Amino acid sequence: MGKVYLTGAGPGEVELLTIKALRVIKEADVIIYDRLANPDILKEAKEGCQFVYVGKQDGRHIMPQDDINEVIYQNALKYESVVRLKGGDPFVFGRGGEEAIYLYERDIKFEIIPGITSAISAPAYAGIPVTHRGVSVSFRVVTGHESPNKKESQIPWETFKTDDTIVFLMGLHNLPEISKKLIELGKAKDYPCAVISKGTTKDQSVVIGTLENITKKAVDVPTPALIVVGRVVELRKQLKWL
Ligand code: SAH
Repeated sequence: MGKVYLTGAGPGEVELLTIKALRVIKEADVIIYDRLANPDILKEAKEGCQFVYVGKQDGRHIMPQDDINEVIYQNALKYESVVRLKGGDPFVFGRGGEEAIYLYERDIKFEIIPGITSAISAPAYAGIPVTHRGVSVSFRVVTGHESPNKKESQIPWETFKTDDTIVFLMGLHNLPEISKKLIELGKAKDYPCAVISKGTTKDQSVVIGTLENITKKAVDVPTPALIVVGRVVELRKQLKWL
């Protein structure tokens, strides 16, 4: 019986991989991965390493999480060293917790190797600090997957009135609803926001706008992309470095 390394692949740029992640990738007998911001990472695997893709395929739905859990488990029965590689950090909207619980319940040993999440690193590469003295004392990372119009939303929209930074992941398709909702909650129409696409990669693009015009400006932006809402976006004027 093997061990599973639930490993963060980082946001995109290969050098943002941790040294520990790189070590387990080099030693892996099998790597189970989905759509990664940078598939070049897989080139680090040893000869003979098996690759199992469990992500979205053209025209097909993403593999259900239950099936992914089972794939990881079956590979752990077969191989000594199993790397489950996930974009960014495995516990930031990565469903890494569910995978680990599945293994725990089946007595499979696992390790969590945190990764640099896109939620902070894509803004950093865009010259946007998620906190800044005198501007924002906290930041939150929120799923944008759910439409703000949904009844009985789990998202505490009412608490988003402050100047604390909000980073929405998986929210590009809901950008019109999200920006409208924030304006309804009392944020100014010219409140700063940004959309960052393919953050930290050589294809990174950044769109800066306001709650009122960001949807229009970001209409053609490719995924993966995240949304940053907050006064910190204005710091890009001085902090843009890439
Ligand atoms: N575990 C990942 C997030 C998984 S959810 C992490 O920690 O980064 C997937 C969402 O992450 C995407 O919809 C997008 O909003 C965001 N994302 C991932 N990689 C990104 C990148 N390189 N640039 C911008 N957004 C990214």
